[in-house]
Amino acid sequence: MNNPLLEEWETPFGTPPFNIIETSHFKPAFEEAIKSAAEEIKIITENSEKPDFENTIATLDRSGESLGRITSLFFNLNSAETNKALQEIAQAVSPLLTRFSNDITLNRKLFSRIKTVYESKATSGLTTEQKILTERKYRSFILGGAALKEEERERFRSISEELATLSLKFEENILEETNSFELHTTDSDSLAGLPESSIELASSEAEKNKKPGWIFTLHFPSYVPFMQYSERRDLRERMFKAYGSRAFRANSFDNRSNAVNIANLRLEIARMLGFKTYAEMVLGDRMADTPEKVEKFLEELYQASKPAAQRDFESVRIFAENMGHTGKIEKYDWAFYSEKLKKKLYDIDDEILKPYFSLEKVESAILGLANQLYGITFKRNTTIPVYHPEVKTFEVYDSDNSFLSILYIDYHPRPGKNGGAWMTSYRDQKNTGGNDVRPFISIVANFTRPSETRPSLLSFNELTTILHEFGHSLHGMLTKCTYESLSGTNVARDFVELPSQFMENFAFEKEWLDTWATHYLTGEKIPVDMITRIKEASTFNEGYACFRQLSFGFLDMAWHTIKKPVDKNISDFESAAMARTELFPPIEGLNMSASFAHIFGGGYAAGYYGYKWAEVLDADAFSYFTETGIFNRETSKSFRKNILEKGGTDNPQDLYVRFRGKHHTIDAFLRRSGLTRKTG
Ligand SMILES: [Zn+2]
Repeated sequence: MNNPLLEEWETPFGTPPFNIIETSHFKPAFEEAIKSAAEEIKIITENSEKPDFENTIATLDRSGESLGRITSLFFNLNSAETNKALQEIAQAVSPLLTRFSNDITLNRKLFSRIKTVYESKATSGLTTEQKILTERKYRSFILGGAALKEEERERFRSISEELATLSLKFEENILEETNSFELHTTDSDSLAGLPESSIELASSEAEKNKKPGWIFTLHFPSYVPFMQYSERRDLRERMFKAYGSRAFRANSFDNRSNAVNIANLRLEIARMLGFKTYAEMVLGDRMADTPEKVEKFLEELYQASKPAAQRDFESVRIFAENMGHTGKIEKYDWAFYSEKLKKKLYDIDDEILKPYFSLEKVESAILGLANQLYGITFKRNTTIPVYHPEVKTFEVYDSDNSFLSILYIDYHPRPGKNGGAWMTSYRDQKNTGGNDVRPFISIVANFTRPSETRPSLLSFNELTTILHEFGHSLHGMLTKCTYESLSGTNVARDFVELPSQFMENFAFEKEWLDTWATHYLTGEKIPVDMITRIKEASTFNEGYACFRQLSFGFLDMAWHTIKKPVDKNISDFESAAMARTELFPPIEGLNMSASFAHIFGGGYAAGYYGYKWAEVLDADAFSYFTETGIFNRETSKSFRKNILEKGGTDNPQDLYVRFRGKHHTIDAFLRRSGLTRKTG
């Protein structure tokens, strides 16, 4: 049977042949590719030569090429253009892929070879890149339980499975609790202050439920504007308490014991693998590679942002008083008065800005920016097969005209596409025997489609989003590494957002906006005072926002640095961790941990600090550009050479210092977010 997924791709640049791939090709291709990947592993384990870097680590990194190619193609498609059939295939192949990866991790012969190479890495003449690859492979086997004794393996496997189930349950409970609440009203007085869009949404929600009037829910599009605009304090209080008590109401969706069990089991796993805490285990390969570093970082930001947070709190409180509020400011008053104050101070909103950011202009401006910074050029190619006619493709060339990458961009929402925006790849870069295999990078987004009368106009937030994803893409496209699993964006979790967030800074620069942002109808340049107000508004309440992020970071670290199982009650545990960041009077019956899906459901355990860490890094990096000129070729060359090209081939801290000439500090971040402003 002919299966294009298993054959050479006779397409321009060897890109995926979307035009001839059929859904029925995937399952057999996965099965076949897993079989041949297993054969390749067998060749490594049955090699009679002494294990060395080349015959073990490098060969392992190169193995499963066909499987990798099919996997990225399939899952990219499943995110950007899915349907029932693809989803069913995903369900069917996921367990096969998990089993295959477990088979590798628990392969004793393979692990023993890796261990041999790992133990002699200091004396065997490896390059830095090879050493890092060896450490990474070794670490992934260790964390997968490869070094455990047979009797421990049983317990390890059972904890892993239990943790997977608990995390799933944790998230399901939150979803259930979020969905179960509604604020139903037929009294139009309840709508006081709400914007039209918010009322419309509530009315259609009621219609959907065959009820009269309006229904408000805890889902963000309904909840957030309600808290920002509703003049009915009693209803804001009800909404807020419902939100804050999710999965903490002593019903069958209560997450108290799930949170405690997850934290305790994580501790047990960490202990089995030889670590003191779970945080110590997961941080090992990060830029902030110990719990102490993370705690020091959080502490430094805490001290630096405390005055600003208190100042923000005070100014909103005074503003509220002037508006006639009496008594204490409660948590459910915060968004309401903040929004009013922001409007008064900056008077800026999306509708005023959008006409200056037509998608067509934004695209050419961003490609032009990359050209200005790095000398690279983009050439449209309409012959490259795509999975949907809307997807645009470019050939990307370096300043010396050598080929760098293919770039796909898929801008608009469709029923089969996930929400949000992301960067991904169909092929990662690697260099095999002097042959530089260049990457295929893709950006997927959900920007408003053009209409008959209007081109696609981006909001300011969408402008920063496309800059962000384009920053990830540059990381993927400019990379020059040897081993695939270290190239491009395959870097430490708390380093990967540097290139992306770095690019967002340009959205606030007059020098860049001036070169392209013009009104799509009148051609008028974006007014200077508008740019100033965008910049100023971006620092509004940043002290408070930083403090809030820190409080989550502290809570996350508290749960993941426990050294013995938690036995006290979750409320006490949480209060102890968060007390120092609390600016409001406490409210009985609310709890953050019970709905903290980032750390108990998703993958942010001992990683929540990463949001702020990345901001501090990108602010420090960009300050180097503002010091030397934002289009300075020397500075951008250094950023490219030391960061964008290097992937994960060196210690991120060393890479950064090579670019910056010194260690990063929090100063630029504090300046950018207005946290160093004096009171008064
Ligand atoms: Zn990102």
